[in-house]
Amino acid sequence: MSTADTHVEHHYLHRAGWLRAAVLGANDGLVSTASLLMGVSASSAGDSETLMVAGLAALVAGAMSMAAGEFVSVSSQADVERVDEAIERAALEAHPEAELDELSGIYEARGVEPALAKEVARQLMAHDALDAHLRDELGLTDTTAARPLQAAAMSGVAFGTGAALPLAVAGLAPASVAPGAIAGSAVVGMILLGVVSGRAGGKVEPKSVLRLVGWGVAAMAITWLVGAAV
Ligand SMILES: [Zn+2]
Repeated sequence: MSTADTHVEHHYLHRAGWLRAAVLGANDGLVSTASLLMGVSASSAGDSETLMVAGLAALVAGAMSMAAGEFVSVSSQADVERVDEAIERAALEAHPEAELDELSGIYEARGVEPALAKEVARQLMAHDALDAHLRDELGLTDTTAARPLQAAAMSGVAFGTGAALPLAVAGLAPASVAPGAIAGSAVVGMILLGVVSGRAGGKVEPKSVLRLVGWGVAAMAITWLVGAAV
């Protein structure tokens, strides 16, 4: 007996939009706050009160800026998508025959035999012409559509969460070991982020985790050196 009819596979692409925003936000929060705290603590200005004020300001400012940046950039993508959708809708209304040829031409180019390509295009357009054209001509689908608010909320919250870890460590660790403790907690946080985001995306790749940690450590080291030099 075949089980083919009950087979359902799980995909992860529908998560790509918010996952990208969340990883970017959390990583940015971790790295920028840890770097800032290390730079301040390495400088002569680094008493513990200054450190906490600087870190808290970095958390709030970073989360706001991250959310605003995501909102603006994803909105501009959504704007382009909306413009293209309007162009397509107008073309479908003005030149339905040419649009039918265009769509069947796309299926032919993908290897469907001409008469069948025409029939597929005709049936898809009878069902939902705009959706068929957006999907196969422009590659726009609901799954991958730009969602500005979702990206903004995701990245702002993720930034705050990422920043909270080195900030908490800076508040708890004695001043003499603060830079090391902050750096260590940031590395642990980055590994954690790599594993969590890997799981959310379907697969944990050691290479992706290493990439995250490598860039983060480089950023912290440079900021620390600058702070020590000042
Ligand atoms: Zn079209």
